[in-house]
Amino acid sequence: METTETFDDISRSLQNGEIDCRSIVEKYLKTIQTKAHLNAFVEVYTEYALTQADLIDQKLAEGKAGRLAGMVVGIKDVLCFQGAEVNASSKILSGFKSQITCTAVQRLIDEDAIIIGRLNCDEFGMGSSNENSVHGRVLNAADESRVPGGSSGGSAVAVQAGLVTAALGTDTGGSVRQPAAFTGVIGMKPTYSRVSRWGLIAYASSFDTIGIFTHTVRDNALIMEVIAGQDQMDSTSSHKEVLPYSQLLKLNKRVKVAVLKETMESEALGQEIKENTQAILSRLKDEGHEVTEVEFPLLKYILPTYYILTTAEASANLSRFDGVKYGYRSAQGQSLESMYKTTRSEGFGEEVKRRIMLGTFVLSASYHDAYFTKAQKVRRLIKEHTEDLLSKFDYILMPTTPTTAFRFGEHSGDPVAMYLEDLFTVQASVSGVPAISIPNGKDKDNMPIGLQVIANSFKEAELYAFSEYLTELTA
Ligand code: GLN
Repeated sequence: METTETFDDISRSLQNGEIDCRSIVEKYLKTIQTKAHLNAFVEVYTEYALTQADLIDQKLAEGKAGRLAGMVVGIKDVLCFQGAEVNASSKILSGFKSQITCTAVQRLIDEDAIIIGRLNCDEFGMGSSNENSVHGRVLNAADESRVPGGSSGGSAVAVQAGLVTAALGTDTGGSVRQPAAFTGVIGMKPTYSRVSRWGLIAYASSFDTIGIFTHTVRDNALIMEVIAGQDQMDSTSSHKEVLPYSQLLKLNKRVKVAVLKETMESEALGQEIKENTQAILSRLKDEGHEVTEVEFPLLKYILPTYYILTTAEASANLSRFDGVKYGYRSAQGQSLESMYKTTRSEGFGEEVKRRIMLGTFVLSASYHDAYFTKAQKVRRLIKEHTEDLLSKFDYILMPTTPTTAFRFGEHSGDPVAMYLEDLFTVQASVSGVPAISIPNGKDKDNMPIGLQVIANSFKEAELYAFSEYLTELTA
């Protein structure tokens, strides 16, 4: 068995009796070990995974196994798994053990997927390069001198390098789609509220989503169909019916695609990515689909809106980490107040502190209306315009990122240059609509390029079907 095989291949081999779950897990464990230098995993659940494999082999023999039997999954270090440590890649959560299991993870386990370990990421999901992690940086397997993207860098590389069949990540402003683009895999962010956030360590609660990394659209759709849906533990989770996405992958109509003039004309957009995107747009026209260039003048306001609102939410969410209730506590504090201060100063990394300060500033009494309230109004406008466009067109198409994977250190000294990496991914996050990144060729350095497809809220089925069609077209 090749470790980069898809779940379809694995299922077939399982059914034919060529392999069993134990041998699948053993093979992945071996690959994880040989590629340990990539630093994708922060913890491997060796014993647990092998025990589960034996249990599922027994279930298979009795014909009682779930839909995901044989699938081996890694989870981002912000998703709780009861009894195991979870750090959000932060020193402040060092030694902290999950009290609960994340609903999305539990639903995978209930269908007999095997959770094999915890994956590296940027601290609390803040970053675009996986350089902000207490566990150290993750290497891009396509070129180890380059970043894997972030914040779910470990999840992307685990799939890219064949360390797992699939991985869960989280996407607040692009953290599944951007690393997927940088590593040449499929990365899906669902509609906000489609997947329960119970057991996900919050970054910005009105943006956070749990997303999926896979090699194929089909595997991705299958996992979504398992983890999506209402959950009584998350009152914001949607009651809307979950469709059998993996069985609805056939595109049976000519589609209408919108291309935003401002994205294709953006100064930040690299030439090769622009050309690859234009090539796929021409292919679509040749195939009889409608491709229309439209204006979206609000584009330039999306990134500032995103960074004002997410830092505000982060400053509130992260206030709970004070040295009393969770993880790390500084030994320096002489009083309760100074213990809070030293714990937070020592426990949080640079980027997280920058965002807490920025968020606290935009929420402060004197600036609340000028920044926070204003950004909320702009968010509403962006959301309305995006939804309006998506009621006239089936999809919006754009590159996932303005550049391909950059080198380590390239943006570390310049937070604004790093934030610009999110230029194209934040629209779907600010609007709450689903979006996916699929591979679209490579640049001259052989680095993967991502193509992003955006659809209207709860159109996951349509998004998957079109993505399946596009992967055939780009192949
Ligand atoms: N790179 C973006 C940020 O730093 C997105 C992060 C995310 O989606 N978690 O906020």
